Amino acid sequence: QAAFQSDIGTLLEQVGTGKESLSFMKRRMRRLAAQWASAARRLDDKLRRWREQKRILVHVGFLTEESGDVFSPKVLKGGPLGEMVQWADILAALHVLGHDVKISVSLKELHGFLGVPPGRGSCPLTGPLPFDLIYTDYHGLQQMKQHMGLSLRKHKCHIRVIDTFGTEPAYNHEEYATRHGYRTNWGYWNLHGQQYMTMFPHTPDNSFMGFVAEELNETEKLFIQRNKVNNMAVVYGKDASMWKGKENFLAILNRYMEIHGTVYYETQRPPEVPAFVKNHGLLPQQELQQLLRKAKLFVGFGFPYEGPAPLEAIANGCIFLQPKFNPPHSSLNHDFFRGKPTSRKVSSQHPYAEQHIGRPHVITIDFNNSEEFDATIREIMRIDVEPFLPYEYTCEGMLERVHAYIQNQDFCSPEVPFPPVNTSWALLGGPFIPLTDSRVLSWASNASSFPSWPPLSALRLLSSLQGQSCVEACQTEGLICEPALYRFINIKEAFSALEFQCEGLESEMNHLLPAFSAEHAECGLQHDPLLFSCAGSSPKYQRLCPCRDYRKGQVALCRDCL
Ligand code: UDP
Repeated sequence: QAAFQSDIGTLLEQVGTGKESLSFMKRRMRRLAAQWASAARRLDDKLRRWREQKRILVHVGFLTEESGDVFSPKVLKGGPLGEMVQWADILAALHVLGHDVKISVSLKELHGFLGVPPGRGSCPLTGPLPFDLIYTDYHGLQQMKQHMGLSLRKHKCHIRVIDTFGTEPAYNHEEYATRHGYRTNWGYWNLHGQQYMTMFPHTPDNSFMGFVAEELNETEKLFIQRNKVNNMAVVYGKDASMWKGKENFLAILNRYMEIHGTVYYETQRPPEVPAFVKNHGLLPQQELQQLLRKAKLFVGFGFPYEGPAPLEAIANGCIFLQPKFNPPHSSLNHDFFRGKPTSRKVSSQHPYAEQHIGRPHVITIDFNNSEEFDATIREIMRIDVEPFLPYEYTCEGMLERVHAYIQNQDFCSPEVPFPPVNTSWALLGGPFIPLTDSRVLSWASNASSFPSWPPLSALRLLSSLQGQSCVEACQTEGLICEPALYRFINIKEAFSALEFQCEGLESEMNHLLPAFSAEHAECGLQHDPLLFSCAGSSPKYQRLCPCRDYRKGQVALCRDCL
């Protein structure tokens, strides 16, 4: 049985020393220790149930010397800290939930934990896998392939890949990606889409892992609000390159506000940062929080994309002002996303802040319009906002979500067989399709005896419009697409339930299926469960979408998912 552990002492010992990245993670764990402990108490009270203790290996591939460890030397120089933030929080969450966690940041440690003899190149693991779960990243996955050889295939259902921007099913399926132009540097591992875990809830095809931001109590909130400096702005961007070509916005901002920056520099102030900006240099996380507590505005100039800092700013009572991208940035039109295994269209610097938080905390505008930019700054100086942190980014929210994944997600059990095509069928409990005849009832009760998480009762069947993805179709009904429930709607009866008249019925490998093609009144079923995908659309298809409800502030979980 797993028992919540509030003391992080043993975790800190395990993390080890000798790398700046590890020191950064340990500082963060120490700073948030009290917050994790009180969240653990609250969640324990809320769940009050038996939880299985899992043996978990965390292998942080990008920190290994063998993958070049390009990050550690950059930790003190403004390099990407978002990943480090997330790994620190994952380790803390797994430890606090009471699992038996082992940590590896080198190939030697990986070999030791897996019981692979050192120095023998690719050597299959002979005995059973000594872990129930392995959290790693794309680098780590590659290393395991090289060193576990074929046995990786046997054990891969136990793996979870921490993947900041996400991997869509079309890119993950090796054969399909190769044949249809979805091949990238990263994808094609033939995992279940939900084995990839992202930094933000980008696509429901992947699991949303997330991270945490600092929480404030009521007294701290009041104190911060009282001490806000109305004309103080902090610019988002710790690397000088992020400030390049932004003179125009900075000049407008400077008319009204005192501008602060945390841009890393060695000896000379970077020329991209104008003299009127008060640059603090890269700050330790704690000092950055103090700066954000005073500032009224946190402003992004378009890069970095989708980092943790805007959530920290909003949690400390700042308004986050960011540019809208029109057209949106994607792997088709922007270097940063090129080669990433996703077709996602990024509508602003931080779409999560834009879509899940929004006004008054987040203001997203067209930065090319100087007048609008000017007017927005003046508006920001007039409004007051309270510190805000979505529940899913609190320690309790992250513990709740990770707990639910660990206890319920199962990619190792054999696939539930599809119901025979001529079985009658309907959706349980949904407002969309009434449960009518007895044949339907018999299939439904049969299907519900298959273990499903989220439970089948959460399923709501919808069809998308032509050219619309299931992500969008579910969203328009206030629901979220749930790939784990595709297997229940990949049947002929789903088409009739939605009143599609099928002239023909085919089963194909195509990530947009199941779908109805209006042109030939053709109904298409999905041939390969690995290709079930919420993302993706075509003007040719009306897609069949398995939607579900979600908890307020915890989009990863349905109402009955806990
Ligand atoms: N950060 C910091 N000092 C600074 C600027 C940022 O410690 O001067 C931290 C910040 O608290 C955040 C992390 O760096 O948690 C990642 O920041 P960002 O949003 O810039 O994302 P990244 O591009 O690093 O992934």
